[in-house]
Amino acid sequence: MSGNLLELNQLSKRFPVRKGLFQRVVGHVNAVDGVDLTIGRGEIVGLAGESGSGKSTVARMIVGLLTPTEGTVTFDGEDVSKQLGTLAFKRRVQMVFQNPGSSLNPRRSVADALKVPLRVHGVPSSTWAERIRSLLEMVELPATFAQKYPHELSGGQKQRVAIARALAVQPELIVLDEPTSALDVSVQAKVIELLLRIRDELDLAYLFISHDLSLMRNFSDRVGVMYLGKLAEMGTSDDLFLRPQHPYTQGLLASIPVVSEAEEALKPTQRHLKGEIPSPANVPSGCRFRTRCPHAFDACREVAPTFHELSATHASRCHLHDPALAGSAEPTKA
Ligand code: SF4
Repeated sequence: MSGNLLELNQLSKRFPVRKGLFQRVVGHVNAVDGVDLTIGRGEIVGLAGESGSGKSTVARMIVGLLTPTEGTVTFDGEDVSKQLGTLAFKRRVQMVFQNPGSSLNPRRSVADALKVPLRVHGVPSSTWAERIRSLLEMVELPATFAQKYPHELSGGQKQRVAIARALAVQPELIVLDEPTSALDVSVQAKVIELLLRIRDELDLAYLFISHDLSLMRNFSDRVGVMYLGKLAEMGTSDDLFLRPQHPYTQGLLASIPVVSEAEEALKPTQRHLKGEIPSPANVPSGCRFRTRCPHAFDACREVAPTFHELSATHASRCHLHDPALAGSAEPTKA
């Protein structure tokens, strides 16, 4: 049996493109294209990348909101590809969304919101009051909050209730899709602290989706950087943020604001990313990053790069790591 809690194997999602009066399918878009990813028990793995990179589509497939077109999902050593989204699997994997306001019913009190997963998953009603009290304690809200309604809560408090609701069924993995991006910076930090404490106490694993690289650096054990549906680079937080190797990661990091001279010294010297991420309906040939890459050379137009292992923890999908091709690397106009 694998030691990983979650294992994605060549996970892909293709959406049909429809046109005309009769909405005929005229093509397909590969929103996620052959993603391999593992998450260990108690580990926090981040997925970074611009909008359109496919990171949220990966998250939605794991929790069963989208059906993968290809690939497998293994959980605790068992192939669960056909169980994604079932009640049994939802008990093990929960999701916290970006906007806590829209994920809470305005007509339901906090206690009622927390009862929903308990009822759905067959938890005996005699234990609900105690469970609700301990869930609120876990997310550092007073027990009196059980009687409050969403309009009486701040954004941070709503997100704490959403986290408590995800914890209600004692999952092993929580998918966090931009969980703090709708919150003020000071509130963000508190929610992140809370999530870290809960992870330590419950040995939970998180898949953390965010476009905020500063947050990702402080929160995640390992990080994958996605570009146009594929992983471009994968490594520990230190691999990615101190020794970024893929030109896309370097470009992303160059755009993070820094707060000290020491951080400035660590920043990649590459200039900011140019242009926009292309449409997934129009993926460039060869390396999909080549239209924006300052290092692109002839082979990048023809040959799609594979992952090159740079260390036991670090891999990057770029021809510059392939000694056979990098020798001919004279930058060209993409
Ligand atoms: Fe740039 Fe070529 Fe590497 Fe792609 S394979 S990231 S275009 S150098």
